[in-house]
Amino acid sequence: MKILILGSDGRAHAFCWKISQSELCTQLFIAPGNAGTAQYGENIDIAITDFDSIKKTCIAKSIDMVVVGPEEPLVKGIYDFFKNDESLKDIIVTGPSAGGARLEGSKAFAKAFMLRHNIPTAYYKEFDADSYDEGLDYIKNHRLPVVLKADGLAAGKGVVICNNPVEAMGEYELIIQKSKFGEAGKKVVVEQFLDGIELSVFVLTDGNAYVLFPEAKDYKKILEGDKGPNTGGMGAVSPVPFASEIFMNKVIEKVIEPTIKGLREEKIDYKGFIFFGLIKVEDDPFVIEYNCRMGDPETEVVLLRLKNDLVKLLIATEQKKLHEEEILLDEKAAATIVAVSEGYPGNYKKGFAIEFGYLENPEAMKHIDSEGGVMVFHAGTRQDGGYVVTNGGRVIAVSAIADTLAEAVELSKEILNQIHFEGMYYRKDIGYEFIK
Ligand code: ATP
Repeated sequence: MKILILGSDGRAHAFCWKISQSELCTQLFIAPGNAGTAQYGENIDIAITDFDSIKKTCIAKSIDMVVVGPEEPLVKGIYDFFKNDESLKDIIVTGPSAGGARLEGSKAFAKAFMLRHNIPTAYYKEFDADSYDEGLDYIKNHRLPVVLKADGLAAGKGVVICNNPVEAMGEYELIIQKSKFGEAGKKVVVEQFLDGIELSVFVLTDGNAYVLFPEAKDYKKILEGDKGPNTGGMGAVSPVPFASEIFMNKVIEKVIEPTIKGLREEKIDYKGFIFFGLIKVEDDPFVIEYNCRMGDPETEVVLLRLKNDLVKLLIATEQKKLHEEEILLDEKAAATIVAVSEGYPGNYKKGFAIEFGYLENPEAMKHIDSEGGVMVFHAGTRQDGGYVVTNGGRVIAVSAIADTLAEAVELSKEILNQIHFEGMYYRKDIGYEFIK
């Protein structure tokens, strides 16, 4: 089977690593990819939302499956684009239809969906330009803190948590009247603040059955101790110690099953990953957000713990045979730590050479066996002649799997010590709450 992976981040490299282990995969292509994905197949320099170029590539390379990493192509309808085209309709696309991707693409849609299906989430109201004054009144009288969310995709920046009403009303005005988030902020969800601890839960569903992947916790803040601005993610761990069996049974019963049943009842075509961004408040799960794809950097720990053949699972998803599959988990602990460019998540420079120390031979780092091991996943990197250079904010994600989380974190840090580029920074406290 010839497989095309869309993406250029650590998640895309992790997918390459996992998929290349499948006997079902004969050849890999990655669009646009990075210096790490190039070790597994051919990088093709096209944008992930350029559907016409993706179509041409699929035909030219006789692609059988397209694995979609990020949300943007799904929200823009890549699944529907393939299914509605005679020359593409037999190619498997791993992800939901545009209708299903609205769970991520519109926060107002997701909230209304949860309300319709009695799925626990923060209470909320939505407002737009027509109901602007009503929204101001609502915010003025809202309990603090209050959470404002731009309805559409805003690259992780569309959520503002405000501690006083003046700040909240100012943000609200910026989003609706000054188009701070462009089209994404045409509607605003005003939501109750939930106080708890967050985790990410992932399933793969064929629309009827589903399989549960290992859960993970990511670390969004740039600074140690969870301080400073939000990033795309500075690290992640799996398993999550507070995700006990009792808690996970509640997640299944109150969140996962009603979501899949709700999609079916509403006749929404959904085959692919659902990423539940959850918050545990006392002992109960609440949904903060849905995503219609795997997370980054969570994929870089989740796939380390998944023993199944991922391609086989993705084929079973397409054939609606997931009920025949069983997830095989590695009980060990995985951690990933992301090395970023100086200045990230603000402005940063690109093009610095990356030195890999004794890891210089990439083959040296490609193996994880039953004892554990390490993977150096590339994110914002690019091959430039004989060098690998930085090409983004998040540059490298070093993932390790070991008997304990403490060992996995130590192993990641040991490997990060071998890697160097100008201005390189990473958090040394990933997993801190769980390590004595
Ligand atoms: P974007 O749409 O801009 O990409 P996002 O999808 O990352 O943003 P959310 O996941 O909904 O947005 O929110 C981002 C973060 O804000 C959450 O991970 C959580 O830490 C915090 N947050 C969101 N909603 C709430 C809430 N109701 N209570 C407490 N914290 C919240």
